[in-house]
Amino acid sequence: MIDCSASKGLRMPSSLPSNGDCQKVIFLDRDGVINQDSPEYIKSWHEFHFIFGSLDAMAALTAAGFSIIIITNQSIIGRHMGAPATLADIHTRLKQCAKNHGAVIHDIFFCPHTPEDHCACRKPNPGLILEACRIHGIDPAQSIMIGDSAKDVLCARRGGCGRAVLVQTGNGISAQKQLAAIQMQPDHVAPDLLSAAGWVMDTWTATALMHS
Ligand SMILES: [Mg+2]
Repeated sequence: MIDCSASKGLRMPSSLPSNGDCQKVIFLDRDGVINQDSPEYIKSWHEFHFIFGSLDAMAALTAAGFSIIIITNQSIIGRHMGAPATLADIHTRLKQCAKNHGAVIHDIFFCPHTPEDHCACRKPNPGLILEACRIHGIDPAQSIMIGDSAKDVLCARRGGCGRAVLVQTGNGISAQKQLAAIQMQPDHVAPDLLSAAGWVMDTWTATALMHS
């Protein structure tokens, strides 16, 4: 198990109050949820393409009072396929695009390691979620994780998230089969982030998350 403190240093600057105010939190995976994933990895802003409706989804969640925090594995750093500055540039542009669309991405936590590093922060391990909760005073039980892979659902469970949502974009279809094979189900399956956002807002409005 390697020391994951380096990834904390690479975290994007925070804009959330760390006073326990942050209660309506959506943890979002990035690749395959917000943007098109690629087997070649996303190594530059030029390769970053939004999935249709994902900006609208984040804008709707923002308007409804949710804090959006991205939780993402970015092994391009550990694989030496991209520099930390390049990843920072992608995330700066992502946040700006979101802002231009009426959405606020409050923070981005990423794991720079490879699977061979056996770190605590690479999903499905919950290190990034636990770190986000610690920094921002989040009760994980009051959060929802949305992702497109089995790793995201496992991470949500291990991190104690109140709900785990699987989207069928990205790797979502194969993830459903992988999860079924280990008899683990997400709380909801949505065709894409826009649909997932609608479910999240309905769920929270019904206060099911707060009392179940
Ligand atoms: Mg993904």
